[in-house]
Amino acid sequence: MSVPTSDAVAATAPKRVLVTGASAGIGAATVRRLRADGLSVLATARREDRLAALAAETGAETLRLDVTDEADVAALVTHLQATGGLDAVVNNAGGALGLEPVAETDLEQWRAMYELNVLGTLRVTQAVLPFLRERGGDVVVVTSTAALAAYPGGAGYTGVKHAARMLAETLRWELVGEPVRVIQIAPGAVETEFSLVRFDGDEERAAKVYEGYTPLSADDVADSIAWTLSRPPHVNVDSLVIRPLAQATNTVTARRPS
Ligand code: NAP
Repeated sequence: MSVPTSDAVAATAPKRVLVTGASAGIGAATVRRLRADGLSVLATARREDRLAALAAETGAETLRLDVTDEADVAALVTHLQATGGLDAVVNNAGGALGLEPVAETDLEQWRAMYELNVLGTLRVTQAVLPFLRERGGDVVVVTSTAALAAYPGGAGYTGVKHAARMLAETLRWELVGEPVRVIQIAPGAVETEFSLVRFDGDEERAAKVYEGYTPLSADDVADSIAWTLSRPPHVNVDSLVIRPLAQATNTVTARRPS
């Protein structure tokens, strides 16, 4: 396949952006922000009722996409081929399941986390890369500060986010000289449905994660994603770590006394 070099491609801002996991949290906030910035957005996730509401609110285009489902990803490629290709992907679909120590952790939860965070990101990235290589574009991977360090009970999630980070770093290496930027966004604690999913719908336990300090909002992370995408095309923000001020590491958070 013949690909243009970085130097040969004219400077253009991303025009059509695919966002995975757009039905909630960081993904939905990213859709809102990119639409507000005037970009064309293809918002995808499994919950179509949520996508329909987001489309009505923002004018984003939507498509049901389970990133763990090969048929869904094949349908995505067909859709992109028929509707003008793509300029950027935000690989955001992901999440954690459980917080048990390694000695007790559930193998199936690890398998599901790997399918979603690692193989889902790989599957979508492989599928859209030909569009991005053809005319230049961006691959954003939303990892986590869990991609940078361990914490007790977090081995399954930190493991898959480390793997997603390696996917991004290796891809950047492999694509050097081509007009494709690879950007890793690594947030600390963000108040979304993340903890509700992690703790299987336990609202009280989920709420405790964000007690006594101001966590990041989904909008804060969307803001950083939009910023990286809007840099001049020769600027690649390789990796952006964004934490709440009160959170120094995965395990050190300054909480107000209750
Ligand atoms: P969230 O509110 O739970 O949103 C997760 C999104 O992923 C939802 O839109 C969900 O939509 C989608 N999703 C789940 N399984 C999917 C699948 N198989 N295929 C397609 N989409 C799927 O969590 P969030 O905090 O916004 O998380 C977004 C990303 O940020 C994740 O990668 C997460 O690991 C990462 N992150 C979160 C935090 C945090 O503290 N919240 C910190 C660092 C990194 P459907 O269920 O409708 O498919």
